[in-house]
Amino acid sequence: MRSVRVVVVGGGVVGFSTAVCISEALPSCSVCLLADRFSPDTTSDGAAGIVFAAPFPDIPLERQKRWFKDSFDHLLELAQCQASPDAGVILSSGWQIFKDVPAVKKPFWSEFVIGFRFMTDGELKRFPHHKFGQAFTTVKCECSSYLPWLEKRFRKAGGLVEKRKVTSLQELSDFDLIVNCSGLGSRTLVGDTQMYPVRGQVLKVEAPWLKHFIRDGDGQTYIYPGVHSVTLGGTRQEGDWRLQVDPAEAESILERCSRLEPSLRKARVLSEWVGLRPGRRNLRVERELVLLQGRQVPVVHNYGHGGFGVTLAWGTALDAVGLVKHCLNELPLQAKL
Ligand SMILES: Cc1cc2nc3c(=O)[nH]c(=O)nc-3n(C[C@H](O)[C@H](O)[C@H](O)COP(=O)(O)OP(=O)(O)OC[C@H]3O[C@@H](n4cnc5c(N)ncnc54)[C@H](O)[C@@H]3O)c2cc1C
Repeated sequence: MRSVRVVVVGGGVVGFSTAVCISEALPSCSVCLLADRFSPDTTSDGAAGIVFAAPFPDIPLERQKRWFKDSFDHLLELAQCQASPDAGVILSSGWQIFKDVPAVKKPFWSEFVIGFRFMTDGELKRFPHHKFGQAFTTVKCECSSYLPWLEKRFRKAGGLVEKRKVTSLQELSDFDLIVNCSGLGSRTLVGDTQMYPVRGQVLKVEAPWLKHFIRDGDGQTYIYPGVHSVTLGGTRQEGDWRLQVDPAEAESILERCSRLEPSLRKARVLSEWVGLRPGRRNLRVERELVLLQGRQVPVVHNYGHGGFGVTLAWGTALDAVGLVKHCLNELPLQAKL
């Protein structure tokens, strides 16, 4: 019997991953997901969805490795099964190239992706302005398909979904436990002033001849072939809240990408998009007690994934489930009955 009422706030990749993981792991919970925006209108929807990460500075690397590995294994399995076309998850091979040899040549996730190696001098010849490169196979997870797929999986596990803006956690005092996956919305919802936007602009172009990704190690320029189009990026503008496409930036993206891959000069532009990454110095997966209508209610936070939310969503969702379990053990008996 389902008796503990859990609410998840957030309908992006973090919210739906967390809601799925809770409802499947904890059948004693009835889980309701609330969000004011759903696919195709979330930040997650526009992300290229390449599985790749840079470390958060103050989180133990072992924990970040676990997040990466859990996510990678989950998505790799999806990419290699019948569900792959529905879920929008595919394998993606390519190169990350650097103008100068980086201080860390082997990133922390190199042991989890497939076939990580340094590029040979021969391979680097096609990038004359770059001195060093990494070749590997990772996963690309396209949220415009993946979010609807996760929603179906969540509903199948008994989850409920409601479109609603939450202005204060006080509105959720009817629930036994709150899970906050509101991304950048956490700045207002829980007053987290450490949250800031990192604006990103991208283009989608038609270039079906491109099969390999190319990412400049500075994170500013990338070419990610996907299921129906190729994503070209990008920008990383901290503190910039503008959601409009900037034509000068679009031109600069096309120019930078075409320098890496000249055939892109012939590609047709299909769409342009801007999203705000939920920036935070350190991603937050932790629990606390909040006083709501005179009652201490456990809140599990899972937000602040910055530019790596698609990459880390499943791993941090599993971590959040662990925190939910802790909270359930401490709930007063009447909530569990
Ligand atoms: C240009 C660009 C490219 C990117 N590329 C990649 C990539 O290749 N790989 C990668 O891993 N990541 C990438 N990212 C980052 C990724 O998009 C984010 O990290 C991820 O989408 C964060 O997911 P989220 O669920 O936390 O947030 P969101 O997708 O923003 O979802 C937040 C949810 O919370 C809801 N919400 C917020 N506040 C409230 C409220 N008060 N009441 C009700 N609902 C609320 C919103 O409606 C929404 O449903 C990219 C981002 C950008 C902008």
